[in-house]
Amino acid sequence: MAVDLHTHSTMSDGSFTPTELLEEAASIGLSAMALTDHDTLDGIGEAALAADRLGIRLVPGVELSLEWTPGTMHVVVLFLDQTSGLANRLADLRDGRDDRNTAILHRLADLGVTISPEELAQTAGEGAVGRPHIAALLVEKGHAESIQIAFELYLAKGRPAYVGRARLPPEEAFLLSREAGGVPVLAHPHTLGIDRSSEIAEALDWLVSIGLVGIEAHYGGYDGFHRSGLVALAEKFGLVASGGSDFHGTYKPDTPLGFGLAGIPIPDSVLSDLESVRP
Ligand code: AMP
Ligand code: ZN
Ligand code: FE
Ligand code: FE
Repeated sequence: MAVDLHTHSTMSDGSFTPTELLEEAASIGLSAMALTDHDTLDGIGEAALAADRLGIRLVPGVELSLEWTPGTMHVVVLFLDQTSGLANRLADLRDGRDDRNTAILHRLADLGVTISPEELAQTAGEGAVGRPHIAALLVEKGHAESIQIAFELYLAKGRPAYVGRARLPPEEAFLLSREAGGVPVLAHPHTLGIDRSSEIAEALDWLVSIGLVGIEAHYGGYDGFHRSGLVALAEKFGLVASGGSDFHGTYKPDTPLGFGLAGIPIPDSVLSDLESVRP
């Protein structure tokens, strides 16, 4: 059986509702799926109902963006149960998104691209608003041919409409994860922006020492060669290998649920391995 432990719904920057995600998971034969929206737990209730009805296991989760340079550090936190402390912090993070998004719209206006706050709110719907929503509007208005190109032209780090936002220090994120009963997993490790093996070793040693538990080896964008390299890396640093597609529906059109770009399923053994290291 296969699983998918990294997905996004309409509660953040995915295009499928939580129910539609679980229905898709059922139709492709997954035994378990984690909902890991950015900075919000608002989809979990609906997802749990759909999962029950469809006979799939739902793993409650969230994806957090952490303070890190030179690249981007995201963690997917799996198996959340005690969510009160985390929920308060997530509300702050969503406020930080709103301020950042307003600043991005101003930058775009300076570049001659008009997107109103109302248009953004309408596209994003309820839940956490993110750059992919702005990217979709840039495509809709003819300023970019695809969401990817909208990032490359305007929204990615270093591009003219990029604005940073408040992120969690890794120490705090791992503490909050543990208090919430969760298992923190380093998402899409290539985005850390480090290549030298000595730097990777230094980063992973440090992250493990402050509470990182897992690492995404079976990521939607990785082929089999890349995945086995990361499984070996996980073993070397005492991390549990996880896996997820990072499905976003139309906001990331090349990545299907479950199987990712290369069409490779994620073994359900990752779920039992992660289960065994729950706090
Ligand atoms: P935000 O959380 O608003 O900063 O947006 C981050 C999300 O944007 C990520 O989770 C990805 O879904 C998407 N994203 C980030 N960088 C890129 C990129 N270069 N191309 C396409 N999508 C991206
Ligand atoms: Zn996203
Ligand atoms: Fe991410
Ligand atoms: Fe993600």
